Amino acid sequence: MAAQLMDGNVVAKRIKDEVARDMEALKVKGIIPSLAAVQVGDNPESKMYVGMQKKNCEAIGLVYNLHTLPADTSETALVRYIEKLNSDRSVNGIILQMPLPQGINPRSAQKALSPAKDVEGMNPSNLGMLLYGNPKIGPCTALSVMELLRSTGENLKGREAVVVGHSEIVGKPVAILLLQWLTDSPTVTVCHIATKDLESHIRRADIIISAVGKPGLIKPEWVKEGAIIVLVGIKRLPDGTALGDVDFEPASAKASWITPVKGGVGPVTTAILLRNTVEVTKMQLGI
Ligand code: NAP
Repeated sequence: MAAQLMDGNVVAKRIKDEVARDMEALKVKGIIPSLAAVQVGDNPESKMYVGMQKKNCEAIGLVYNLHTLPADTSETALVRYIEKLNSDRSVNGIILQMPLPQGINPRSAQKALSPAKDVEGMNPSNLGMLLYGNPKIGPCTALSVMELLRSTGENLKGREAVVVGHSEIVGKPVAILLLQWLTDSPTVTVCHIATKDLESHIRRADIIISAVGKPGLIKPEWVKEGAIIVLVGIKRLPDGTALGDVDFEPASAKASWITPVKGGVGPVTTAILLRNTVEVTKMQLGI
């Protein structure tokens, strides 16, 4: 393998160590941040995330409370529930578990979140702040991509970055964050379902951020020698194997840097959720 690994576990540890230091400082003041997770219904995938979040929060001493609402909860009832959490002074951060049942528009729920408690940065006000650059709170996976890129120490200025996938939670915020260094940013192209010739974009990419979740979508032979690849899109097979949008082994033979499919973006995303929770707590207290 030619590529160096952007090791998500190493980056996550560095972030968690910083969070632990902040937690110590808050503890001295008698403050223990708390995160409320709201889950509607019984989606198995979101159950898995909830378990992981709880374990990670408790490991650093954050209070984690899961609020499970019945699958037939209406949008109005969910919005009311969120508003109750917004005004509950014992709750510092709120996370909405996705997917929500059909019939609830995720945007209505995200809009209802207080921007001051929105640990995923998905409220329109926090998403808007991304455009201003250097956001304190932002979508966890998008910020995770930026941390991994930063960990390479590579200068991205003027290089060709291609983001594949344009979701509100990953692709779009990644594209905006890549532009945050003003004169030092790469040139950013966003490919999506309507992109006519994905191959031509990938072939000229110095940086590839793949955020789709379709294994084999990007052919390793398209990857330019020395490209930096962040594999966000992952498909988990029933046997537990995880596959990225580009086949890891052949892609890493050509890339200069690559994230592992497991132990790449995932652990950093979790670490950023913890950091966001501590950040919103500090902001609420004016620290
Ligand atoms: P999503 O909402 O399903 O978005 C997928 C995106 O890919 C959409 O913008 C979609 O476009 C686009 N797309 C679909 N087919 C395409 C094609 N053939 N060519 C180019 N673009 C195409 O998913 P998401 O929430 O953004 O997540 C993306 C992936 O990242 C998933 O695999 C997810 O599991 C993974 N993920 C990983 C982490 C982590 O921490 N490791 C966190 C979040 C997400 P349209 O909307 O136009 O169809």
